Amino acid sequence: MTNGVSNYLSYTAKELKPSPIRKFFDLAASMEGVISLGVGEPDFITPWNVREATILSIEQGFTSYTANAGLLELREEISAYLQRGFNVDYNPVNQIIVTVGASEAIDLAFRAIVNPGDEVLIVEPSFVSYAPLVALAGGTPIPVSTSPANGFKITAEQIEAAITEKTKAILICSPNNPTGTALTRKELEEIARTVEKHDLIVVMDEIYAELTYDEEFTSFAAIDGMYDRTILINGFSKGFAMTGWRLGFLAAPAEFVGHMLKIHQYTTMCAPHMLQHGAIEALRNSYHEVESMRNSYRRRRNYVVDTLNNIGLDCHVPGGAFYVFPSIKATGLSSEQFAEKLLMEEKVAVVPGNAFGESGEGYIRCSYATSMEQLQEALKRMQRFVERRVGAVVK
Ligand code: PMP
Repeated sequence: MTNGVSNYLSYTAKELKPSPIRKFFDLAASMEGVISLGVGEPDFITPWNVREATILSIEQGFTSYTANAGLLELREEISAYLQRGFNVDYNPVNQIIVTVGASEAIDLAFRAIVNPGDEVLIVEPSFVSYAPLVALAGGTPIPVSTSPANGFKITAEQIEAAITEKTKAILICSPNNPTGTALTRKELEEIARTVEKHDLIVVMDEIYAELTYDEEFTSFAAIDGMYDRTILINGFSKGFAMTGWRLGFLAAPAEFVGHMLKIHQYTTMCAPHMLQHGAIEALRNSYHEVESMRNSYRRRRNYVVDTLNNIGLDCHVPGGAFYVFPSIKATGLSSEQFAEKLLMEEKVAVVPGNAFGESGEGYIRCSYATSMEQLQEALKRMQRFVERRVGAVVK
């Protein structure tokens, strides 16, 4: 190479920023005695029956490619799961793709619908991948901030205010990462009216659908008029405790799926064969395990929210996922200062809220997908930290 590597790199690669979450994980990983409330993944191991089905699949020699869209048997199970759990009808033959995590499904959705210059609204605070994936697809991500006063729920007015003639689609995630906010059917219906009025496509990230604690989950595609304009994203990572399996899926009207399948075919070919057998087992026989994990998360959520509010960190009650998003404004610190000092002084890792968009400034994300003992110890340390900062008398 005659010039430095930099001269050979694409502008796209150079402009892409590394995930702002990683920095804290790397720092925390280099220290001893850290309790991490930073990582967004279940503390449970995948249910045994799912692991066993996968072991059996390997033993039986299922080591080849599958159909690009995934095993038909798995797509049939996904179709039945979406029908019985969420009241939405998708044909397993041409409306479902098994992907490498929900992450790939989101990527396929943007790549299939975005043209250069198209704007995609991203409801913030949001999962860190959406905006970079829109940009990689050649589009322009437009953040739409939600407000803590409203429990971080997106409103029709906020969407209206962000729409231009270039707006093509909106990405909504409910229950949300990082706020845990879950939208009700009525709230989704209001959003649907705006979506219809402006003729938008909705990329709906429902990866936390299994983890809702107060209200029954409503799938956006089940709302009147939304089926034809929704790309439904879901997967096994969160509800089934299968993050490392890298298995997700999408469901959408057949024409969208046909085009997404071409991209999937060339980039991924198919999800791993033996793991798809595990996923079939997960959908058929994990109902009780999933319910028991959900109940455990609910107990921890209640404990964490109560304790944070008692400590003096205002925290709304999130309806789903496994995150709380308390305000740290009482300490007078910025989100990054809070996270850094808490890590250095008390060895508790959390994620600064601004990693999820500007509207997350003044907040931190804590995951409660860790044992009750660890949570109790982490909150004790946080209480000490906050007391030092605000000098408040704490109950
Ligand atoms: N969407 C959201 C909102 C997430 O929080 C995550 C994982 N943190 C994903 C998608 C990616 O999920 P997967 O592991 O299935 O790729």
